[in-house]
Amino acid sequence: MRIDIITVLPELLTGPFSASILKRAQEKGLAQIEVHNLRDYSIQKQKSVDDYAFGGGAGMVMSIEPIDRCISSLKEKFTYEEVIYMSPDGELLTQSLSNQLSIKKNLIILAGHYKGVDERVRQHLITKEISIGDYVLSGGELAAAVLTDSIVRLIPGVLNDETSALSDSFQDDLIAPPVYTRPANYKGMEVPPILVSGNLKEIEKWRHEKSVERTKERRPDLYKKNYEN
Ligand code: SAH
Repeated sequence: MRIDIITVLPELLTGPFSASILKRAQEKGLAQIEVHNLRDYSIQKQKSVDDYAFGGGAGMVMSIEPIDRCISSLKEKFTYEEVIYMSPDGELLTQSLSNQLSIKKNLIILAGHYKGVDERVRQHLITKEISIGDYVLSGGELAAAVLTDSIVRLIPGVLNDETSALSDSFQDDLIAPPVYTRPANYKGMEVPPILVSGNLKEIEKWRHEKSVERTKERRPDLYKKNYEN
């Protein structure tokens, strides 16, 4: 899978992709993540990528031209299934959306800044808008990193233990059960005896019960969806 991220602040995206799972995914050739500096596509002398809003008001708006030039140059080389704009008013990111995107081949992600992008970008160049939550960030870079991480870890082969993604919270609309590691007794705090019993069938049953219990307690909305219709 190839993910091209367009931003005015590429330095914000060097960290998240250069460690751990995302780094390994790229080294294994399972994901190619490229960050593009929008300023490289500006035809202005000062390399500006924004301008005042028509009609006045505070804040700058990202111009359509450099964005169009950047997306067009990428499209000359690759075919993209989605051109995503990170936006607080977009579709809320869920595990199900990440699952859907993880089976795509090529994606473009545009990170906004300032007051956002010229509306014509959204109308004509973008195919999907995604929000990572009901709060406003200063820019779309961190949101793009969150989206990329949630997608890339689902690509088969990226996680060493493939079943580990499958047992994550939300994967089956259930919250993951509690986990423990050694020592079995730490200052009198003991792990549930069933987990050290060696009875795999009973352990699976216990885990499922705990998942259901946690979902009911912490995410009654998910619990209702699964068990009460
Ligand atoms: N004025 C805009 C917010 C602009 S914030 C509004 O009120 O809707 C600047 C940029 O940060 C946005 O263009 C978007 O790319 C990004 N951003 C902010 N909050 C976000 C969120 N919750 N999810 C995804 N992207 C977000």
